[in-house]
Amino acid sequence: MGLKVYINGKFYEKKDAKVSVFDHGLLYGDGVFEGIRSYNRLVFKLKEHIERLFESAHTIMLEIPLTPEQIIKAVVSTLKINGFKDAYIRVVVTRGEGDLGLDPRKCKGKACVIIITDRIVFYPERLYKEGLQVVTVPTVRNLPEALNPQIKSLNYLNNILAKIEAVNSGFEEAIMLDSLGYVAECTGDNIFIVKRGELYTPPQCMGTLRGITRDTVLEIAKSKRIAAHEHVLTRHELYNSSEAFLTGTAAEIIPVVKVDGRLIGSGRPGKTTLMLMKEFSKVTKTEGVRY
Ligand SMILES: *Cc1c(COP(=O)(O)O)cnc(C)c1O
Repeated sequence: MGLKVYINGKFYEKKDAKVSVFDHGLLYGDGVFEGIRSYNRLVFKLKEHIERLFESAHTIMLEIPLTPEQIIKAVVSTLKINGFKDAYIRVVVTRGEGDLGLDPRKCKGKACVIIITDRIVFYPERLYKEGLQVVTVPTVRNLPEALNPQIKSLNYLNNILAKIEAVNSGFEEAIMLDSLGYVAECTGDNIFIVKRGELYTPPQCMGTLRGITRDTVLEIAKSKRIAAHEHVLTRHELYNSSEAFLTGTAAEIIPVVKVDGRLIGSGRPGKTTLMLMKEFSKVTKTEGVRY
């Protein structure tokens, strides 16, 4: 029995899970998505992810043909039918089938809802122990007044260009700056630094997606009485931090040990980072929507 994919209320075998070539999600990246994870039959922060999905859709005036509760049920059914205990879940909503012009009014049918669940191995285990080396890339993060990074849209070329630049330079991940030259985030992850025992992460206003993992780290910090600041960060501050790490649903928390050739702290994952990784793994094992 192969992988089953949810499309508009029905399950399809992976090889039959297809959408029209006239779907504006394909033709224009016109759509929104979420990446979610489940741990031991608990879907982590499912409500928060679905809320963000609806906010992304609201801004691009995409009407999702299901209620948040119905999407939550569909996610749970997709996990159950595939028998996953631990999974990565991708919810995609596209504008649907239209003509070759970009006018969304031509997409007369309903938006298309897709749910894919699968196992993923993101970064190799070794990198969680040794830490990532990253590089600042020339492509800046989308301007909030152009394409707001808060919208998790299907148009990810901004991030893909940055990823290509990082890979071309021999690195796995890119630091993206905002249009003023401050540190914004990575291609699919938020960034934190530790300095004098306190946490700093760029504010969401500039060009930083308000990640749910980022919020979780801020919550953990609060519960551990570690001061955490949402503050603009320069590369100088990043280079001179004692620890740095990235956060995202897929990557979870991964230490960063070198940025643009500068060693971060001792060049080994720091103790605050390791503590947060441990606490994060506890939270994901105990919180979430059970199925
Ligand atoms: C999804 C995403 C993140 C991480 O958000 P989470 O909610 O923690 O998964 C960060 N940056 C970008 C650009 C993203 O697309």
